[in-house]
Amino acid sequence: MTQTVASLREGVQSIAEAWKFQRSERQARRGLERADFDALRDAGFLRAVVPEDMGGLWHDTASSARTVCELVRMLATADSAVGLVSAMHPAVVAFWLLNPDSSQPAWEEQRRAVFASAAEGEQWGTITSEPGSGGDIGRTRATATPTNDVSLMAGRSYVVTGDKHFGSGSGIADRMITTAIPEGEGEPTIFAIDVRDRRWDGTAGLTLIAEWDGIGMAATQSHAMRLDRAPGVRLARQGLLSDVTAGAGAFVATLFTAVIVGVLDEAVAVAKQQLRSKAADLRAYEQVEWTRAVNDHWLAVQAYEGSLRTMEAGDPTALFAALCAKEAVAELAEATLGRLARVIGGGTFSRRSPFAHWYEDVRALGFLRPPWGLAYDNLFALSFA
Ligand SMILES: Cc1cc2nc3c(=O)[nH]c(=O)nc-3n(C[C@H](O)[C@H](O)[C@H](O)COP(=O)(O)OP(=O)(O)OC[C@H]3O[C@@H](n4cnc5c(N)ncnc54)[C@H](O)[C@@H]3O)c2cc1C
Repeated sequence: MTQTVASLREGVQSIAEAWKFQRSERQARRGLERADFDALRDAGFLRAVVPEDMGGLWHDTASSARTVCELVRMLATADSAVGLVSAMHPAVVAFWLLNPDSSQPAWEEQRRAVFASAAEGEQWGTITSEPGSGGDIGRTRATATPTNDVSLMAGRSYVVTGDKHFGSGSGIADRMITTAIPEGEGEPTIFAIDVRDRRWDGTAGLTLIAEWDGIGMAATQSHAMRLDRAPGVRLARQGLLSDVTAGAGAFVATLFTAVIVGVLDEAVAVAKQQLRSKAADLRAYEQVEWTRAVNDHWLAVQAYEGSLRTMEAGDPTALFAALCAKEAVAELAEATLGRLARVIGGGTFSRRSPFAHWYEDVRALGFLRPPWGLAYDNLFALSFA
């Protein structure tokens, strides 16, 4: 059967609906389940960012960015961790997808290799963050040395060495990107590493330094790893790394926002269900808190929508809009979960309450790239642009 955007949406929706019945078991998880990602792969999720002419469903930003963000939002209503790990795939492929340059044949060849990998069902992720970098990928201390090893895809082969953390989807992703400074050069660039089935005991370039113990997004396997001559392929594009990240920036930020909007959608919907029968008995304070929670959720959705619309319109301020939306939703989501907890009661403090998990899950958005401090640096600069 030929896949369409509609059939992909239906497939992901039925997966998400089924997962909602497993909520308490899923929220207790401390790791990812391969079966979840196999189901999403089979539904065609990984091909959503593969261009149409390579067998995927991506037409262009104007018509496809919303589709992908909405799929991620839908997944996050059912499972925050799977939603976030799933968001990493389009967020990473976007570096190639959204930066075409027909004047650079090597880059175009590499772009096709990345799309072919996603079309074949390989999941992409990122293990770029480094302790002490404040989420700024330009501040990497990792190094990359050229090698003659067989390359995993079009591009020059290197081995990468450095300490990395927050590799969401470790153990699930087949390929992950990272940053490092190539030997003899001054500026960092991106490297794609083949992480599939690679041991984490130091014998194959990766050592697990710290298993992810997040209080929120607990099952994302966002492990810390030491890369020691991990084989990778260098980004084939000539030019500044910041051009590549800027080209993908609005979409990436909106994907992360979509995850948290999805969590918020579900939290408000479940709270409404619980409160409906006793709405008339709510105290004045609780009525105000509930109303403000609903209001804040509405505002968060408007911010997210605003970001999607600027991308759809090809508006040059799309990155600014996406960052504004990300920061606004990060604050509104934390505030909303706090208000819901105050209305529903102290039981929301229990690990058995979905709200306890969602409260911590939504806090991730502000720390996702660009994290708070860096995001506000960027917003400040863009506000005068
Ligand atoms: C749930 C979750 C999932 C994530 N998934 C991923 C992922 O899949 N891949 C990935 O690569 N990253 C991931 N991240 C990491 C994220 O993108 C950020 O890189 C990370 O949160 C940055 O952490 P930090 O601000 O504590 O930085 P740190 O580097 O620990 O900085 C701590 C503080 O010091 C400041 N600081 C640090 N260095 C400087 C400096 N040189 N100058 C001035 N101030 C500085 C920072 O602004 C910050 O306030 C994830 C984060 C979370 C929370």
